[in-house]
Amino acid sequence: MSIRLRLTAWYTGILFVTLLIFSSAVYGFVHLYTYEELKQRIEQQADKIGFDPSAWDVQLNRSSVSRLEDADLYWQNYTFYNGKLIQSENMAISNLQFDLPSVEKALKADKPVFKRVSVNGNSFLVFEAPVTEQVSRKLVGWLQVGANTRTIEQTLDRLQSILIMGSAATLVIASTLGLFLARKSMKPIGKVTEAAEQIQKGTDLSVRIEYDGPQDEIGQLIGTFNGMLERTESFYKELEDAYAAQRRFVSDASHELRTPLTTIRGNVDLLQKMWTVAPGERADMDEEMIKQISVEAVGDISDEAKRMSRLVNDMLSLARADTGQTFELDPVPLQPLVEEVARRAHFLEKTAEWHVGELSVLNGVYVEGNKDYLQQMLFIFIENAFKYTPEGEVSLDVVLYKGQVGLRISDTGIGMDKDEVPFIFERFYRADQSRGITSGTGLGLSIAKWIIDEHKGSVEVVTRRGEGSTFIVWLPVVFAPPLE
Ligand code: ADP
Repeated sequence: MSIRLRLTAWYTGILFVTLLIFSSAVYGFVHLYTYEELKQRIEQQADKIGFDPSAWDVQLNRSSVSRLEDADLYWQNYTFYNGKLIQSENMAISNLQFDLPSVEKALKADKPVFKRVSVNGNSFLVFEAPVTEQVSRKLVGWLQVGANTRTIEQTLDRLQSILIMGSAATLVIASTLGLFLARKSMKPIGKVTEAAEQIQKGTDLSVRIEYDGPQDEIGQLIGTFNGMLERTESFYKELEDAYAAQRRFVSDASHELRTPLTTIRGNVDLLQKMWTVAPGERADMDEEMIKQISVEAVGDISDEAKRMSRLVNDMLSLARADTGQTFELDPVPLQPLVEEVARRAHFLEKTAEWHVGELSVLNGVYVEGNKDYLQQMLFIFIENAFKYTPEGEVSLDVVLYKGQVGLRISDTGIGMDKDEVPFIFERFYRADQSRGITSGTGLGLSIAKWIIDEHKGSVEVVTRRGEGSTFIVWLPVVFAPPLE
């Protein structure tokens, strides 16, 4: 049974009980009140007639004068000792008579009572009272005053019908309306189920439930569901991106490793061939030539092995970064660190001039970082600058700006196109003009970027093809040196 049917059933059931109680109360109250009022009127009439048999004749005459007032009341008196029956005029005209008790029965009646009787097919409420002599308390007569209850019964019947019909109509209208409202308020839940089913069947996580109703329980449920979908979608996308990056990394890495391996294998084959043929068969090559070719081949093997080991080291660093491995961060004084890098940069292989700016501004400047990784990062930028600057100059200087320290590495080298910049921090990316001309793995800047991110820093690139490049690494500064 659906929730909306169950809700409607509950609602209708409760309404039914309420209506039943209410209608019974109304009917009971009206019934009681009407009959009580009638009884009062009958008793008043009985009092008016009086309990003195000798005055009953006079009473009859008086009553005929004032009969209009009590037109719907009927009375009759009976005197036991002479068997005389006196009736009100309307009774006599209608030829009615209430049953009279036998003397024995009348003697047993000690107080007045109300009775419901039927005479000639008409219902009456009759007040019956024994009449006694005042002194001896001897039974002398019997007083009966009655009222035709047909009108009251009709009215009560009508009231009963109205209550039953009204309640039934209310129940039908309320349950139909209730079902409609329940269906309307449950409709958004159907949408949630539909969306969930759609996701379960396919992979479309972009589904959202449209809802412009109030922010009630259902509105909140839909909001939460949409939020959950949004999170799942972005999480799924991240996962997909990560998976794609991983696949690209593996394919690029195997490609990069294949090149040096091919060179090494080619050279080894050459050496093997040269040194295994019989001396007579290499008539075209003298000893000197063989030696020269061998040295070149060994040199190539050595270069490629170095390149491979650099590549493997870089890949290892990035693989560690991918596993979420982080390093210890301590307050590091920047001046000695940058000075050491500047000094060691003199020994790098280079064709451009090396300029170092004023580093004294770094005095007392600390960053939350790791000395080794910070140096590695600076060397990546400096080595690149030298690599891509065949002639001209490479310089290092520093700036302090709004709680950040900027380490600026500028060169006057080959520069880059603007549209290449977004990709240079990607793994294995190498701009076309550097591919095959300068040695490199395309991993340096990815590692540098990871180190900068770990230091909660950022990097800025300004470059122009043929004019050079400037990289500024921004790191948050911790000014106060920690207490030892
Ligand atoms: P690579 O080993 O090729 O140097 P990097 O990740 O360090 O790999 O750099 C990615 C690419 O960015 C390089 O191939 C080069 O095209 C470009 N690049 C980096 N630094 C510079 C620079 N100072 N001047 C010009 N191009 C640069």
